[in-house]
Amino acid sequence: MKKTLIVQAPAKINIALWVKHKRPDGFHELGSIMQTISLADTITIKEIGEPGIRIFCNNPEVPLDASNLVHRAATVFLDHFSIEPHLAINIEKKIPVAAGLAGGSTDAAAVLSGLARLYDKSVTTPDIMNISATIGSDVPFVVHGGLALAEGRGEKLSFYEPPRPPYAVVIAVPTGVSVSTRWAYENYQPGNNQAKEKAFEEVLQAYRRRDIDALKALIFNDLESVTLHRHPEVLRIKELLASTGDGVAMMSGSGPSVFALFNDRKHAMKAVKTLHGMAVNVFIEHITRKNA
Ligand code: ATP
Repeated sequence: MKKTLIVQAPAKINIALWVKHKRPDGFHELGSIMQTISLADTITIKEIGEPGIRIFCNNPEVPLDASNLVHRAATVFLDHFSIEPHLAINIEKKIPVAAGLAGGSTDAAAVLSGLARLYDKSVTTPDIMNISATIGSDVPFVVHGGLALAEGRGEKLSFYEPPRPPYAVVIAVPTGVSVSTRWAYENYQPGNNQAKEKAFEEVLQAYRRRDIDALKALIFNDLESVTLHRHPEVLRIKELLASTGDGVAMMSGSGPSVFALFNDRKHAMKAVKTLHGMAVNVFIEHITRKNA
């Protein structure tokens, strides 16, 4: 009998993003604190009679050919286990595309975990994380989910228990603005790394003890300087989300999405009201733990 499986693919935010320096191989050496959130795509994987991998998506911005990270993930998995491709994969996109929320990476991660279940492969999460590293540097993190400190290109991961009760998270994405991750890194001018080393560790501690006031002074994303300069509306959204004084707001990844952390949903909803009249897509979510 042909099987069908449905998996959730959670978005990530960067609580801190430190771009240390450009390496001789062209990649940047990073320090990043990453957290998965409840905003998620829903992926349906179906075995089909015809050969090949067919991709469907409700968002026309997403490519349906071999450049889709889901296609790459399925190909890597099937090659690894020498399985002939006979798959239809539907991506129901809720995560805004090219927004700094790792939408493509998390879809790829969900497909890897989903295929392991669909084909009854007894692989562990660390096995899948290893297989996933070739697809993209954020993929091993989203395979696992929760809270992690990432170093190297983002592939050296140390996981932590996310704080409890979970923060409420507002995600605000300006419409009509898309930022290429590559462009943001290419235009970044590295700053003072010594000060960042200390601040980076302090962000993780303040985040874990749910100290929003401390985070207001500590939190940073090096790529903000690049994206905010080009897209002032991102700065405006950040200022508005912080204006109630209850939360801490920051751009995620290379942007343009902005996230803000609050102690509870009531404060998150109050901050969302400040965005009234802005051309922005808003989600009220919460941080999540390790993927099931
Ligand atoms: P990151 O935070 O990892 O830098 P992002 O959230 O900024 O990524 P994505 O949503 O992953 O960006 O999209 C980046 C590009 O990847 C898109 O413009 C799209 O062409 C391509 N892409 C490939 N596969 C997918 C997918 N499954 N979902 C979304 N975009 C995809």
